[in-house]
Amino acid sequence: MTTPSDFPVRVAVVGSGPAGVYACESLLAWADQHERDIVVDCLDRLPVPYGLLRHGVAPDHPRIKGIARTLESIVTDPRIRFLGNVEFGRDLTLEDVPRLYHAVIFATGALADRELGIPGEHLEGSYGAAQFVTWYDGHPDARRNWALTADRAAVVGVGNVALDVARMLVRTPEQLEATDIPAHVREGFGTSATRVVSVIGRRGPAYAKFTPLELREMGKVEGLTIVVDTADLEYDDEARDHLEHDRRAGQVCDQLAKWAAAQAETGHPSADAAEAAALSAGGRVVRFRFHRSPVEVLGTDGRVTGLRLERTEPDGTRVRATGVCEDIAVDAVYKAVGYRSDPLDGVPFDPATSTIPNDGGRVLTGPGGEPVQGLFTAGWVKRGPTGVIGTNRHCAVDTVNLLVADLEAGALFAPTATDPQAVRDLLAERGVTVVDGPGWAAIDTSERSLGEASGRERTKLGSREEMLAAALESQPNRR
Ligand code: NAP
Repeated sequence: MTTPSDFPVRVAVVGSGPAGVYACESLLAWADQHERDIVVDCLDRLPVPYGLLRHGVAPDHPRIKGIARTLESIVTDPRIRFLGNVEFGRDLTLEDVPRLYHAVIFATGALADRELGIPGEHLEGSYGAAQFVTWYDGHPDARRNWALTADRAAVVGVGNVALDVARMLVRTPEQLEATDIPAHVREGFGTSATRVVSVIGRRGPAYAKFTPLELREMGKVEGLTIVVDTADLEYDDEARDHLEHDRRAGQVCDQLAKWAAAQAETGHPSADAAEAAALSAGGRVVRFRFHRSPVEVLGTDGRVTGLRLERTEPDGTRVRATGVCEDIAVDAVYKAVGYRSDPLDGVPFDPATSTIPNDGGRVLTGPGGEPVQGLFTAGWVKRGPTGVIGTNRHCAVDTVNLLVADLEAGALFAPTATDPQAVRDLLAERGVTVVDGPGWAAIDTSERSLGEASGRERTKLGSREEMLAAALESQPNRR
């Protein structure tokens, strides 16, 4: 009789971003500890791995991008097979899973934009942060051209994505010279005209989601003046209490206060005067505006011309509307109000939270429902788009612990295709051009040589065609 330990444990991990790769790492650690054979297929719909690390982290954040080296050491383990350019739901379906794998972990992340639900948000010039981020990070499915023609832009939201978007909007081409952005994005930044970016928070600064390190970094951008409205830095008892107990929030507000103090010392204490002085000196400005909630994107002839903001006042830790509105003139609006995940064909999905319903990582039939055999989830599609990259490591470990418990209880699938090559054969039959580990290595080499030619560590290939061409040179006949 064949017992489960006669052939390797086989797991598919859908998504090769940090959560997916950390799930692979955790599966390998379990296999090492229990001396079990394992084959993990790490699938990605893109020909390249690392998900949001590659297509979400800002290019001027090389420190964070450096985490790719850790992820690389995991995916190059011979027990992990990278299967890129494979779309789950199309090239490989949920129906295929029980025949091929003991279990599957969905770690598909979140790279769609949440909407504001206000009039005008679909005018030309109103964008989601994810659209812009995927463009500047060279995501092959992002739009090719970006018109950086706005003199003034607004970024809605006061989280780290808002900071990334605002900072990238005021970067000069020279400041992006050393980064890995693809050639077409470099060209786009060459025409950037944006001089003023207003960053809009609906609550007060005490409740901004920025992390202090990321906020301080804004102050290091050369030629940039940061403008703060000092009235925004007055706190009620609730906010003061919050600042006393939340160190991160305290540091964020201290930094804003330092900028306000520096502004007062220049002799331009009001935000309007400080902005005007910085512009007349030829500089660029990021201006923080708190206690303002966007109620309408204004436009003429289908294009953004302004943003209507309603003043808010504190109501506990939240805010209430005051009915008092002001319009700011802007040519572009970027919504950085959170990402959301997309559903996967046949996999339970809760549209209210944009996540896969789960209990600690075991997929459920629906919110509060029953576990679904063999299906697991990790990362942002499991718990929503919050936390730093490292958060996904703990999240993936929790999921793998449950998967292993189910494996040991004999509660997973019992794949009938015993040869791990079966999935490659199936994909070949379906005409899928798989980019495997060596294929990705060839893309990597190609990007490094492209970068080297102009003195950079890397220049990303910006289209799927270029990526596939580079990969296929190394794997013309590989199954
Ligand atoms: P986030 O931290 O949740 O911030 C979202 C912001 O949007 C909040 O300020 C929120 O305000 C605001 N917002 C939501 N709905 C709104 C509405 N209808 N009107 C006005 N404002 C609204 O999300 P994120 O910035 O997308 O970041 C996602 C995660 O990635 C975070 O954990 C972040 O730290 C991480 N990240 C880290 C880095 C880094 O470390 N360098 C870079 C990028 C992202 P309320 O608080 O009032 O709801």
